[in-house]
Amino acid sequence: MPTIFTKIINGEIPCFKVAEDENFLAFLDINPNAKGHTLCIPKKEVDKILDLDEETYIGLMAFSRKVGKALQQTVACKRVGMSVIGLEVPHVHVHLIPLNNMKDITFQHKVSLSDKEFTDLAKAIGAKVE
Ligand code: 5GP
Repeated sequence: MPTIFTKIINGEIPCFKVAEDENFLAFLDINPNAKGHTLCIPKKEVDKILDLDEETYIGLMAFSRKVGKALQQTVACKRVGMSVIGLEVPHVHVHLIPLNNMKDITFQHKVSLSDKEFTDLAKAIGAKVE
């Protein structure tokens, strides 16, 4: 059974897309820790990051770096944190999270955004991805 993220890649489930290339996709987390919380995923469906082939692993890091830099320029924060967990969705994803304090990385505090805020944010971050 395909993961929810494969369904997003295939367009069966909508997302607020930030950026995409042949092998990777970035979109906003639907239940964000902070405004701008973005997920970067390989289109290849693999559960655990350490099981990725080296080329995909390095490609995912390079893609996440590009998106993270765009996020940093778009959302005011002290820094952008990167985290890989995967306890909820068994499809490799890098969390990019604008951080102002430790609670932003704990996944215990969430913010809610309107559809318009999600749409505008995804567009604004995506426009800065080089
Ligand atoms: P993890 O697997 O790293 O513990 O967390 C999975 C993340 O994916 C969570 O932050 C959750 O909010 C996000 N997520 C789960 N389902 C969806 C979805 O259908 N769309 C989007 N955009 N994010 C999702």
